[in-house]
Amino acid sequence: MNQRTDEEALKAVLSTLQAGEPTLIATHVNPDGDGIGAALGVAYALRKWGKEAVLCCESPIPSRYDFLEGIDAFHTPDQLATQSFTRLVTVDCGDWARIGKVASLYRPGMLINIDHHETNTQFGTINWVRPQAAATSEMVAELLKEGGLPYERGVATALFTGISVDTGSFHYSNTTPQTMRQAADLLENGVEPDVVSDRLFDTYTLPQFQLMRRAFDAMQVELESKMAWVAIPFEMLSACGASQDDVEGLVNYARGIEGVEVGLLFREVGSNEVKISLRSRKWVNVAEIAASFGGGGHARAAGATLALPLSEAIQPVLSAVRNKVAETFAEKAR
Ligand code: 5GP
Ligand code: MN
Repeated sequence: MNQRTDEEALKAVLSTLQAGEPTLIATHVNPDGDGIGAALGVAYALRKWGKEAVLCCESPIPSRYDFLEGIDAFHTPDQLATQSFTRLVTVDCGDWARIGKVASLYRPGMLINIDHHETNTQFGTINWVRPQAAATSEMVAELLKEGGLPYERGVATALFTGISVDTGSFHYSNTTPQTMRQAADLLENGVEPDVVSDRLFDTYTLPQFQLMRRAFDAMQVELESKMAWVAIPFEMLSACGASQDDVEGLVNYARGIEGVEVGLLFREVGSNEVKISLRSRKWVNVAEIAASFGGGGHARAAGATLALPLSEAIQPVLSAVRNKVAETFAEKAR
């Protein structure tokens, strides 16, 4: 069942989506542009085929995505608590736990897993997992084309946004010729790239700016370990009037310091809950570090959630990163 080729998986996803209804579409907790764009893309396809689609995410959708058409259609699991679904599509989720409380709405039936994480655990009935895709949105764009659907401007913008977010605006090593071709196809259908990048990369709210100031001040640089890290406790957010969403992107500045191979960010999300974000420049596989803490992701961008207070979460992760950096560079020198 799980041994389909990529093409067979795509075809199986298409025929299954077209066959039944209604379908719940879920992306991961703390959603990013890729998960959101891909979910909107699948919802668009289902509606075009006359099928009912219900969008759900455990966390609220960050306001920077308000410009996307149809974004208001996302529900929280609480809002859907009286319903259940035997058909579920997950997008951009490397493992089942990533959909969080949305899982409680699903009664086992047909689970379609569309994702691009190398670490994907193949938890679906149908698994269409393509690690070489830069973004799940890139895969969904192909799904629409394969299904004979037009890229209306709204859905094209959502999918372009997803690709843009996961490639860091076409900067990262995951950007392939196929990514560019797919993005070009979307651009031909009315996407305004300046609007997308203005919303995603070139605008920060005042609280977000205040947070950047404080976070830069608090950043620790250990060049001998080729690492830079910063912890964001609740107090830092409240002092700036910032929200958890405003933390997005900060970790890239840690990695950006010359000589740094791994950038790390610790974010206090509960009294016993810390989210870590890891980014590497070129050599260290941070997905492996994240996986050792129960998380996952990609070689250059990964994350995990630790059930520890902030003060206890930091040292074990820093040690793991120091060891991994040392090991990676020792291997490289061999
Ligand atoms: P971010 O640091 O931006 O939250 O996430 C970077 C990458 O790591 C994304 O591809 C995301 O899917 C993955 N990731 C982040 N947190 C987790 C987690 O708790 N578990 C898993 N499996 N992947 C995560
Ligand atoms: Mn993604």
